[in-house]
Amino acid sequence: MEMIKCIKCKNDMPKLRLEKFGYKKCVNCSDVSSYRAINTTNGTGDHTWNDIQIVTQEQYDQYQGQHSSNFDKIEESKEDNNLQGPLTIIKTD
Ligand SMILES: [Zn+2]
Repeated sequence: MEMIKCIKCKNDMPKLRLEKFGYKKCVNCSDVSSYRAINTTNGTGDHTWNDIQIVTQEQYDQYQGQHSSNFDKIEESKEDNNLQGPLTIIKTD
């Protein structure tokens, strides 16, 4: 993987972070809340339960735009988004 220097701490970080997400800082220096939590309801009838999905801000916006059932598509692209962190759990309710 091609690496570039973080503009803040000068440590190596994946170039993908800049190309894909526009981040010039590494995960340690990033102050962006890059993850959001979506509350989902699963099951039907009396057998429902709530769950939380952790997504990127981009996916969150996409999810909010499309409402419910396309969440499977977001799951599929998860591998491409494993360069970010740390996790920030944001309560949405
Ligand atoms: Zn850094």
